[in-house]
Amino acid sequence: MQVNLVIDGHPVHTAAGNTVYLAAKEAGIVIPTLCHHPDLSPVGSCRMCLVEVEGEKSLQPACSIPVRQGQVIRTDTPALHKHRQDLLKLYLASYYDAGYPTGTRDGDQNELIYWANQYQVEIYPKETASPRLAIDSDPNPFIWVDLNKCILCTRCVRACAEIQGRSVWTINGRGHASRIVAGTGTPLLEARCESCGACAAYCPTGALAYKPSIHEGLPEKIVATTCAYCGVGCQIALHVRDNRIIRVDSLPDAPVNGRHLCVKGRFGYQFVHHPERLKAPRVRRYLLEGKRRSAGEPRGDWVEVDWDTALDIAAHRLAEIVNTSGGQAVGVLTSAKCTNEENYLMNKFTRQVLDSHNIDHCARL
Ligand code: SF4
Ligand code: SF4
Repeated sequence: MQVNLVIDGHPVHTAAGNTVYLAAKEAGIVIPTLCHHPDLSPVGSCRMCLVEVEGEKSLQPACSIPVRQGQVIRTDTPALHKHRQDLLKLYLASYYDAGYPTGTRDGDQNELIYWANQYQVEIYPKETASPRLAIDSDPNPFIWVDLNKCILCTRCVRACAEIQGRSVWTINGRGHASRIVAGTGTPLLEARCESCGACAAYCPTGALAYKPSIHEGLPEKIVATTCAYCGVGCQIALHVRDNRIIRVDSLPDAPVNGRHLCVKGRFGYQFVHHPERLKAPRVRRYLLEGKRRSAGEPRGDWVEVDWDTALDIAAHRLAEIVNTSGGQAVGVLTSAKCTNEENYLMNKFTRQVLDSHNIDHCARL
């Protein structure tokens, strides 16, 4: 069902059940938010998205109220502007930036700083000249925790619970003493953290960030590509400087994974520049020389060859073993990196060409 309403004087038509925030967004009207993220359940706690709804006595959170027929909404009045400025001042009053460029957003401008700039709010008030809490307060090798930047928006809490399904983060304490804590106040890894980085990816302030990249600064370019670890095909953004990957981030609009990645996709990229990384196939020298090796004889050294040579040797030896000892003498291991179609072909090849039932797949481990 279609709902008709008016936002900032413009007639807006949207689907019933949508929130006012979503209806405004569809109409090209930007309402500022901090705790809200479209991938996460709405909580309406940061109060940045409060709007005026005609007939309502109090301001209403646009991220969590549904549209109603004939509603009249105002999203940007002088009173709302002042409300958001005051709110940002409060958030920034206890915000301390130790100067580590987290770089997980456009440039190094996190969402809190972005909105502070939009609303002309001073970013570093004098009263936050020193940190209140320890910087890098968790020993997790991948997640950087600096709660001097935390505004208790709970995006990390929801991302971990709703996307990663681990429920590591929670809010502890009351009032000014409120903090996000892992588990019952333990280090992240003791609270069942899988180091996926989702909490850092959704954090709007840089309080949680990617530790391996924390001293890397900002990239020269960002290259969108597909993670090569498994067959899911998550899209990733490679942050590159001096022809070297300094950070891997998720892409918000990636159709398969959105902001989500696993620990390997987000943090396991050092192999790309490893000096011992294999970049071409290798075969044992005795195979290249067409020799045979007896049981117990050393295997000899590896020789780098082109793909045609390596495939010819593999095909020749496979055929030789199957012809002399039968299909059950060989086995095939396929990979989660292959597509379904490639794995299907490997299954056919093993059972019908090699005449073997010995086929397995790394995803079964
Ligand atoms: S890294 Fe992943 S598992 Fe660990 S706390 Fe963050 S979201 Fe949860
Ligand atoms: S750490 Fe980040 S995401 Fe979590 S509550 Fe604080 S500001 Fe929000």
